[in-house]
Amino acid sequence: MRLFSIVFILFSFVLVSNAQSKLIYTWEDEFSEAEKEKVQTWLGATYNAVQSKIGENPFDVYLHIHLKEGKGEPCPWANTWRYPKQQIFFHIDPSYSLEDFMNDWTAPHEMSHLAIPYIGEKEAWYAEGFASFMQYQIMMEMSLMTKAEADSAYHAKFSGVEKYYQNKNSIGPIAVEKREERNFKAMYWVGANLFFQWNEQLLKINNQDLCSLFPSYLDCCRKKARGVDGVTNSLDEVIGYTIGTDLLHQFREGQSKSTFLLPN
Ligand SMILES: [Zn+2]
Repeated sequence: MRLFSIVFILFSFVLVSNAQSKLIYTWEDEFSEAEKEKVQTWLGATYNAVQSKIGENPFDVYLHIHLKEGKGEPCPWANTWRYPKQQIFFHIDPSYSLEDFMNDWTAPHEMSHLAIPYIGEKEAWYAEGFASFMQYQIMMEMSLMTKAEADSAYHAKFSGVEKYYQNKNSIGPIAVEKREERNFKAMYWVGANLFFQWNEQLLKINNQDLCSLFPSYLDCCRKKARGVDGVTNSLDEVIGYTIGTDLLHQFREGQSKSTFLLPN
């Protein structure tokens, strides 16, 4: 009896220590078996790349797959909920090929969102900026983009919104205004500019990228960190620099024209 208990406890421990973040699918509309397999291949490969790039999420992820045809793209709409469970809603057109789905940035973007808790509406530019920065990091991890292609994509996105951030006002309030005007590109890519600069500074100072901070952060702090400041501090604490905190202060208080940086 005693031996049985010990074996049982050891076995449970092995099960727990091997616990992996799982994808749990709900098919909200009717899909054929072949379509389901295609979607699972696409989202499974993307989730593996997210985890190999930034580490394992300390939770399972619930995926809801809806049908949305005739919009001219494989995944015309998706959104993420982080309460009460970690959920992503994908609205897809299954007539597109697996290759079309793989080359779409939506899944890398949405799956990256989960690394940061819900931070509220006001500073949505921070959460959207993070996911927008990450989408190309994940596509590089999946060998769907070269570094040169990713750099040129960042450059094009930043150049397209630079004009809104060339004055004495701070980025934070301008980004809130752009969101109210539904100019989402201006809001997303200015947020991504913060993470781009954070990444560049880390590479320069310590020869490591921003993504390398995430395995420790996901483990220690993903479930504890609250708000933009909490997340930024937790990431800074992983490495012992204040790069994120300093950039956040600059984005909130500094003049936009000297804060928004175009990569070389
Ligand atoms: Zn997003």
